[in-house]
Amino acid sequence: MNEVIKQVDCSILCGERNEKEQNKAYDEGKSKVRFPDSKHNSSPSLAVDVAPWPIDWDDASRFYYFAGRVMAVASGKGYRLRFGGDWDGDMNLKDQSFNDLVHFEYMGKVETEER
Ligand SMILES: [Zn+2]
Repeated sequence: MNEVIKQVDCSILCGERNEKEQNKAYDEGKSKVRFPDSKHNSSPSLAVDVAPWPIDWDDASRFYYFAGRVMAVASGKGYRLRFGGDWDGDMNLKDQSFNDLVHFEYMGKVETEER
């Protein structure tokens, strides 16, 4: 996100969540899992909620556009991310049961094939 913000203004909404915060997010329907099953529950956090700034919650297309920028930055740095607008990463945005358009989680480094 330090690299993303050089290209597009954004605001970090949430990083690490402790037990109380995670279970509150679950109770409010903002998360589908209770503590400690979210990537937000690692320390340091392996998930971050980020929104393009200024935030317009009524403009979903802006969040998708922003997510594309985030994913491009990540892949350029060799990181695999999971976006809450495409949990299974298949680029089909209509097969979602739960959209979390501000959520990005770290899935590790891109594996490079040795030849
Ligand atoms: Zn999240």
